[in-house]
Amino acid sequence: MPSTHAVAGMITRLHDPQYARWAAQIRRTGGCRQPIHLRGHVHHLDPATGNRLHSYSTANEPDGILRVPCKTRRASRCPACAETYRADTYHLIRAGLVGGKGVPETVSAHPCLFVTLTAPSFGTVHTRREKNGKILPCHARRDAATCPHGRVMSCTARHGADEQCLGEPLCPDCYDYAGSVLFNAMSPELWRRFTEALRRRLAKLAGLTQRELRQQAVLSFAKVAEYQRRGVVHFHAVIRVDGPEGPATPPPAWATADLMTDAVQHAASAVAVTVPAVPGEPARSFQWGTQLDIREITVTGDLTEQAVAAYIAKYATKAAECVGTLDRRINPLDDLTALPIRDHARRLIAECLRLGALDELAELRLIKWANMLGFRGHFSTKSRRYSTTLGDIRQERTDYMRAEAITTGRLPLFDEDTVLVVSHWEYAGQGFSAGDALLVSALTGNRLPAASGGGS
Ligand SMILES: [Zn+2]
Ligand SMILES: [Zn+2]
Ligand SMILES: [Zn+2]
Repeated sequence: MPSTHAVAGMITRLHDPQYARWAAQIRRTGGCRQPIHLRGHVHHLDPATGNRLHSYSTANEPDGILRVPCKTRRASRCPACAETYRADTYHLIRAGLVGGKGVPETVSAHPCLFVTLTAPSFGTVHTRREKNGKILPCHARRDAATCPHGRVMSCTARHGADEQCLGEPLCPDCYDYAGSVLFNAMSPELWRRFTEALRRRLAKLAGLTQRELRQQAVLSFAKVAEYQRRGVVHFHAVIRVDGPEGPATPPPAWATADLMTDAVQHAASAVAVTVPAVPGEPARSFQWGTQLDIREITVTGDLTEQAVAAYIAKYATKAAECVGTLDRRINPLDDLTALPIRDHARRLIAECLRLGALDELAELRLIKWANMLGFRGHFSTKSRRYSTTLGDIRQERTDYMRAEAITTGRLPLFDEDTVLVVSHWEYAGQGFSAGDALLVSALTGNRLPAASGGGS
């Protein structure tokens, strides 16, 4: 039931003389559920005379603010904006595989792999395994050992795909929670070392020095991080070899997919990253898990460029909330026992808070990233030469919207080089008031969260 306060707010909005303008603002945010409120102005000036050619101020907008899309990539926060982000990421990844968006089509002939680098084990967890269409028992052991906490290390259940226990340890007290969050924290560095080792290995296989390798070939990467249900990240990456000037130049003849596969295998098993011992915790050395998956991406084969682009784009909009943690920062003073999460996520978060308080680990900023279970890297990253950028793709859309605004008469047609643009913007809140949320839900059929920190 909506509150009387919300209903009153909705009625006020409907009777507002600026209602049409408000509704137009909402339409332009494309269904964003938490639009950003901006207050400010833009003046277009003639640089020669200083005369004002055109002015826009939010003072004339409903509530004195302009509502713009939040542009989050996270589907749990705003499905509409995350969908835009997903589509942009898809085009970015696809351009790096088959060309387009300024990348020549010849790039599709460059050797290109889809690689999955996993995390190591931190203890036995409940899993769902399938073989030939049949679901296997989770972790059946006839002579299973009993752990020091009295738990038998066996589970004969055939788990359903949505069972909550999946990814959770057979014995939480034996599980290496510290190792799990430290691995997440160190994984961006492990990735960096992997890419360096890969370059070294490629040079060696091709019989070149590092310097000669750089003169002949460029390695390009695009990767996403994905949380496994146990709460550790693993990475999916597109790895491509180009000629010395990037995607527009052909790769050297020695750079075959087989040679690349060999080099990836070697580099993935060769690298490690260590965390020194701290009070109560031993020194740890992390490597990638043994499950390494390397597949060649081809236009016609088993693994097509569409499949890869769709896969990476899908994970680019997900974060740790998919494993049952919280979709917001955690304050060290929060009462963890009161959070509406499962015990496994609670223990991972508690471990971040505990280790994050140690001076020796301060630079891992585990407290700040506790809700991400220690991972503070970017979810989707690509090297400079991979393809176009999200910024360019967004600019294309902005240009299109601007052209549309000009042709429909909302913006006068100026050549950007001949006018001086003076603008000032400030953040004035986010989200909808209770009344607006009710109205937008009624108009769009989308249920919206109650007002969160929204200004007006
Ligand atoms: Zn949004
Ligand atoms: Zn099980
Ligand atoms: Zn145990």
